[in-house]
Amino acid sequence: MNRYQTDLLRERLEYASCVGKKIYFSQRDADDKAALSSFHSGEQLVGYECPFCKLWHMGHRKSKKRIEAEGMVRRYELHGRIRAERVYQRKETINEDR
Ligand SMILES: [Zn+2]
Repeated sequence: MNRYQTDLLRERLEYASCVGKKIYFSQRDADDKAALSSFHSGEQLVGYECPFCKLWHMGHRKSKKRIEAEGMVRRYELHGRIRAERVYQRKETINEDR
């Protein structure tokens, strides 16, 4: 995956799990509403902490595909950061040599 693909995937995930969803300020709030909605609709809904806005939403249980996609984005960001840190450290070393 390159930067462009990761950005695209992250955007798609954000739209699916955050944008336009009702927010809850605690896990308990989201879980209570999810249980109530599950009872009335017969669908299995859960409360979850949003990786984008860090608040809570209610939705369907994550699919394997969704978990894999989130993992891919996270891994890319982690490796990108590690690379960025290495470049930073290298610069520091060069400066120390002077
Ligand atoms: Zn959110």
